[in-house]
Amino acid sequence: MSELTKKSLTEIANLIKKKEIKSEELTQSFIKNIEKDKKLNSFVTKCSESALKKAKDFDKKPKLNTLLPGIPIAVKDLFCTSGVKTTAGSKMLENFIPNYESTITNNLWNEGAFLLGKLNCDEYAMGSSNETSYFGNVMNPIAENTVPGGSSGGSSSALAADLTPATIGTDTGGSIRQPASFTGTVGLKPTYGLCSRWGIVAFASSLDQAGPMTRSVEDCALMLEAMASFDERDSTSINKKKENYSKNLTNKIKGLKIGIPKEYRVDGMSKEIDKLWENGKKILKDSGAEIVDISLPNTKYALPAYYIVAPAEASSNLARYDGVKYGFRSSKGNNLIEMYENTRSEGFGDEVKRRILIGTYVLSSGYYDAYYLKAQKVRQLIKNDFDQAFKKVDTILTPSTPSSAFKIGEKKDDPISMYLNDIFTVPVNLAGIPAISIPAGHDNNKFPLGLQLIGKPLDEQKLLNIAFAVEKKINFKQMLNRWWEK
Ligand code: GLN
Repeated sequence: MSELTKKSLTEIANLIKKKEIKSEELTQSFIKNIEKDKKLNSFVTKCSESALKKAKDFDKKPKLNTLLPGIPIAVKDLFCTSGVKTTAGSKMLENFIPNYESTITNNLWNEGAFLLGKLNCDEYAMGSSNETSYFGNVMNPIAENTVPGGSSGGSSSALAADLTPATIGTDTGGSIRQPASFTGTVGLKPTYGLCSRWGIVAFASSLDQAGPMTRSVEDCALMLEAMASFDERDSTSINKKKENYSKNLTNKIKGLKIGIPKEYRVDGMSKEIDKLWENGKKILKDSGAEIVDISLPNTKYALPAYYIVAPAEASSNLARYDGVKYGFRSSKGNNLIEMYENTRSEGFGDEVKRRILIGTYVLSSGYYDAYYLKAQKVRQLIKNDFDQAFKKVDTILTPSTPSSAFKIGEKKDDPISMYLNDIFTVPVNLAGIPAISIPAGHDNNKFPLGLQLIGKPLDEQKLLNIAFAVEKKINFKQMLNRWWEK
C-alpha cells in the first residue's frame, strides 16, 4: 500500500499544486489499492483505465488553480455519471448508462477531479447497512464481518480503506452520517438545497441531500466548497453566494453556545455512547464554548414521521421504473400490465418493495389524512423545535448513532430494529438543516463511534469550525489491520 493513499485530500491537493507529485502516480496508487477490494466489495464499477488517462492528460497540461487538481475520486453509485453505469444498487438499473452528468459530480470535475469508480450502496439508498444492495454486502474495513453503515456503505468503506481520497454520499435520513460514524470518518449532510439534487437517482425528494465524506474536517470543508452551487435545474436549490469553507476554517469557537437535547438520551443507550457524549461536552467546554441544556420535545415522533414521508415520496419517485422508460424489463407477461408487474416484482428487492407498499398505502385516499398529512404536520413541529432551540444555542451536540457497527445479518430480517438506527439522524433531514458526524472515540470492541453536530440552516461554516476544534482535541486514531488485503 502506498503512503500517498493514506494522506489527506488537502495534503495531496497541495502536493500536486507544488508539483511534488503527479496525478498519474497518485491515481496509480489508488488503482493498486482498489485491486484489493474483493473482500470489501465497495466498488460496483471501477474506472481505472479512464482515470489513468485523465491523470495523464492532467499531467500534460496541469491546471493548478482549482480545488481538486488532478485528484481521482470514487462516488456513490446514485450520482449519474455520463457514459458510466449508474445502478443505484438495484437490478432495475443494472445496465443503466446515463447520457448526462449530475451537477455535483460535474462540479467536482470542474474543480480538477475525475472519476475513479462507482461505489456500492443500499438499493435506491434505502437502508442502514448496505445489505439491500443488489450487488451484495459491503464490509467495514475497521472490523471483519461488520457492516459499513448505509446507505452510503460503499463510500464509507472505500474511504476508510484508502481506496479513494474522499467521496460523496447522499443523506435522506442519515446515509452520510451513520456510515461515517461506523467507519471512523467524517460525513456532512448540508442544508437542504445547498447541493444540487439534479442527476441524483431520487429516493425522497424533500429529504435527499448530497454531501461530502472525508477522512478529516479540513477535507470535508474543501469538498463541500467544490460541491455546493446554485443550480437552476433543481427547483429547491438555494440561490446564494459560494463560500470558501476551507479558507475560513478555524478552531476558535470561544463563546459559542452548544445545546444538549435531553430527548437524545434514549432508553437502553449504551454506557459507551454516554461516555462519548460526555467527552464531547468536556472538549467543547475546554475550548471555551458554553454548554446549554435544551429540549426538542417532538424528537420521539421523528422516526415514525420519517418512515411515512420517505416511503410516500419513494413510491411516487419509483413509479417511473416500469420496464419502458428505464433499465430492466421482464421478459415474462402476456400484456402490458403483466409486463409492468413482472418488471417491478423482479427488478426491485424486498426493502424497496416494502417502502413502495407503505408509501402507496399512506398516500391512498382514506389514509392520506391519517398518515401522510399528519406526518407532514409532525415534520413542521420538529422543525419548530429546532427553530426554538437555535434561539438559545449556536449548535447542538448529540451522538451520531445509538450503537457502533453491527454484524452483517444481525438486523437484516428485522426492519424495525434497522430503522431504529436512524433515530439521531432523521430529525435533521425532516427539518432540512445541516449536520456533521465526526469520529470521536471507540467502544469496547475498538469500533469507531461518532458525534453529531447539528446547525442552523446554512451555518455549515460554524459546524465545520466546531468539528475542526473537536477533531484536534480528540486525536482519533483509525485502527486498521487491513484484513481485506490478506
Ligand atoms: N436508513 C435510512 C433509510 O433507510 C436513511 C437512508 C438514507 O439516508 N438514504 O431510509
